Amino acid sequence: MSHPPINLPNIINRSDWGAREPKLIEHFNRPAPYVIIHHSYIPGACETTDDCKKAMRSMQDFHQIDRGWNDIGYSFAIGGDGNIYYGRGFNVVGAHAPKYNNKSVGICLIGDWRTELPSEKMLKAAQAIIKYGIENGHVDPNYELYGHRQVRNTECPGDRLFNEISTWSHFSPNPTEIRKNEIR
Ligand SMILES: [Zn+2]
Repeated sequence: MSHPPINLPNIINRSDWGAREPKLIEHFNRPAPYVIIHHSYIPGACETTDDCKKAMRSMQDFHQIDRGWNDIGYSFAIGGDGNIYYGRGFNVVGAHAPKYNNKSVGICLIGDWRTELPSEKMLKAAQAIIKYGIENGHVDPNYELYGHRQVRNTECPGDRLFNEISTWSHFSPNPTEIRKNEIR
């Protein structure tokens, strides 16, 4: 199945946010050894579920239509409403962090987190989808957590969010060097 159900109370499935079908789904072998945290920057933070669904559609439009990618780039996104929005899902090659797209879960906290911190419920939702991934064999229990900026020249996920995730367990200050023959 391309988008297997996720048994969490606050999951918003693709049909619920009005996702288009991906152009292509490519799987990689689980469990993923890395989790990479992003912010959307644009769109900004969303408060209501309706606004968060809109934000998801706008990101999918940008990634799939403007950039020509297969789908929204992220595996999951987290809304200001505390919900987890289903992106590409686990073990599907993403488009969020070159060299890591086929070995990571990419989680985007919707909003601009350079100076503001996402709400507690957003942070909890991000941690909940990681925990779910481990419990269901999608994420390596010994995974390493990075901010996008650690693997690419970008501000993402914003200073404030980056400082926050650097206190989380599994955060790694020194990303593992990906071997040349693994780059795709
Ligand atoms: Zn990013």
